[in-house]
Amino acid sequence: NEELLINSEKLYIAGQLAAGIAHEIRNPLTSLKGFLQLIASGRSNHNYYDIMKSELIRIESIVSELLMLSKPQVYQLCYRDVRQIMEESVTLLETQAIMHNIEIRLMMAAEPLYVFGVENQIKQVFINVIKNAIEAMASGGLIRISLELAQKAQIVIRIQDEGPGIAKEQLSKIGQPFYTTKDRGTGLGLMVTYKIVDNHLGSIKADSIMGQGTTFIIQLPYRKDPEENA
Ligand code: ADP
Ligand code: MG
Repeated sequence: NEELLINSEKLYIAGQLAAGIAHEIRNPLTSLKGFLQLIASGRSNHNYYDIMKSELIRIESIVSELLMLSKPQVYQLCYRDVRQIMEESVTLLETQAIMHNIEIRLMMAAEPLYVFGVENQIKQVFINVIKNAIEAMASGGLIRISLELAQKAQIVIRIQDEGPGIAKEQLSKIGQPFYTTKDRGTGLGLMVTYKIVDNHLGSIKADSIMGQGTTFIIQLPYRKDPEENA
């Protein structure tokens, strides 16, 4: 009986992973298809090849990350400057933001903000939250991201959008598996995000005002890199 339980749980997790992966690959595929149609229609004199190339690179990197996953998983725990992880995450989403008429503005502490954790997972957290912010802002706008060192050795990361906001009764549902309000959403992004933040001994919450926007506030413990000379 216990084995059955474990098996069904494994299947459940595999299913969730598959849905998430399909979602990750479908986004760039959809935009590639759109650009190809624009070019084929001959109606556009824009040069979309740069964007198309970056979408292809995105798919390529997802696939190579999957190949890495298929090997026995060894988590690399490292000291990392979270500012750098954020910059890389934003870079990955920049073309998507531009296509939606969205500016991403970064404000970061001048000093390194070290966390101890799995770099790719932390990146996944930032990507999931920023992507939701982009998807929430149908008519464009500004996403403000700030990173600072707060009291009690906590790194505080704020990701603020100008989307429609999240209603109070919906706030408790986000992060539950498969909870989505999007036609083509999976409802897995925030579940994975919450899990990773929890594994890193951090916290995450959403503040939202209907009609004004949503701010996700993530806290991660600050850990001084022991190899850096003080
Ligand atoms: P998905 O993006 O596939 O819908 P997520 O787990 O990432 O799944 O998000 C779950 C739901 O939370 C979204 O469908 C949306 O309703 C809500 N949500 C998340 N982030 C935001 C945001 N920044 N603004 C408004 N709603 C949001
Ligand atoms: Mg999402």
